[in-house]
Amino acid sequence: MKKILAEILAIGDELLYGQTLDTNSHWISGEMDKIGINVIRRTTVGDVESEMLTAFSEAEQRADVILITGGLGPTSDDLTKPCLAKYFNCGLAINEEALAEVTEFFKRRGRELTERNRQQAALPTACIKITNPIGTAPGMWFDKGDKVFMSMPGVPHEMKRMIIEQVIPRLQKKYTLPVIHHKIIRTIGIGESFLAETITEWEQSLPPHFKLAYLPSLGEVKLRLTGMGDSLADLQREADALTDQVKPFIESFIYGYGDDPIERVIGRLLRDKKLTLSIAESCTGGYVSHLITTIPGSSDYFKGSMVAYSNEVKISRLGVKAETLERFGAVSEETVFEMANAVKLKFGSDIGIATSGIAGPDGGTPDKPVGTIWIAYADNDQTLTKKLQLTSDRLLNIRYTAAAVLNMIRQSIPN
Ligand code: ATP
Ligand code: MG
Repeated sequence: MKKILAEILAIGDELLYGQTLDTNSHWISGEMDKIGINVIRRTTVGDVESEMLTAFSEAEQRADVILITGGLGPTSDDLTKPCLAKYFNCGLAINEEALAEVTEFFKRRGRELTERNRQQAALPTACIKITNPIGTAPGMWFDKGDKVFMSMPGVPHEMKRMIIEQVIPRLQKKYTLPVIHHKIIRTIGIGESFLAETITEWEQSLPPHFKLAYLPSLGEVKLRLTGMGDSLADLQREADALTDQVKPFIESFIYGYGDDPIERVIGRLLRDKKLTLSIAESCTGGYVSHLITTIPGSSDYFKGSMVAYSNEVKISRLGVKAETLERFGAVSEETVFEMANAVKLKFGSDIGIATSGIAGPDGGTPDKPVGTIWIAYADNDQTLTKKLQLTSDRLLNIRYTAAAVLNMIRQSIPN
């Protein structure tokens, strides 16, 4: 099957001047990926005729589908339409259907149609008019042999509606596109490069119609397997088989698949085992509890938490011994050990969790530099502690700590 290649042209001086962020190209790329069209390049061009004409012809040499946004408005700086007419060697003429649509558009809003607005219905005669149901500038579809140019308004919601409702169905009709299947394997507690090293052989043995992407986020790495073919059922079967092959190498790091975040996976584990959880948070300030409670139904297993931030609260409200804090400090194995057990006892839960650390950017000492964080897990049989040595960025540290705590729960829940 021939690969269909696309290029996106975002037109507008405001994009080049840094006044508007080109979110259109980003969004269109995602939509093309979903239907199996390869976006090979994205270009931004100013409202300048010669630049646009060059961009059109260069794009045509590289790509089958050229998707253009912007510069269709009624103002004199909007040049896309006359440039396309020039490029396709045709004139501009009032398109009666487009005129009826734009007239209706203004009538519905109780506004008068000016000559300038009327000109929005003047289209290059070589194009097929694409209705814009929520704006005044129609889209324009130009067939050029096997290739196609599609020009759309720059206004994001008008462009999106046109892509979804009209451009994608037309592209699917014009080209034979592959079926695409993504499978996401979610890992936690293993860095990207170490993960890559661990699965090198498997990655190298992937069949050519499967691609692997590493998608790292805080404390996690998602592996995305993308298969292209012509049968969804076959691709799903193959992706599952490939996953089974890689599993033995990274089993302890895999916590889920697809869209399931770790807090949901943990919620399921706790509910299935009928276990309850409570948390004593110092440096994370409630963030772990926030993540846990983003999951609907978390009240089934989450008893609550205490943000025990000051030493005084750690002692008087939570029940950490003053002596422990004095001897070992708030950021210590001994303190989180006591915090986790204290919150478990106070809240009457099966599992107690604790965090305490120097989130930064200040407050470090030579033996406890910024980013030193202790976490603890306690259940009826055991108390586990772990030291993390993180970064100097406060918010990053909070989020990394939350990921580490959630992973600790996952690994430690009793069977
Ligand atoms: P209109 O018919 O409303 O004039 P147009 O096709 O002429 O639309 P532009 O004038 O280029 O489009 O842009 C209209 C608005 O859409 C801009 O003010 C800008 O905010 C937004 N816009 C244009 N291009 C992009 C882009 N690539 N990404 C995000 N927003 C964009
Ligand atoms: Mg404009």
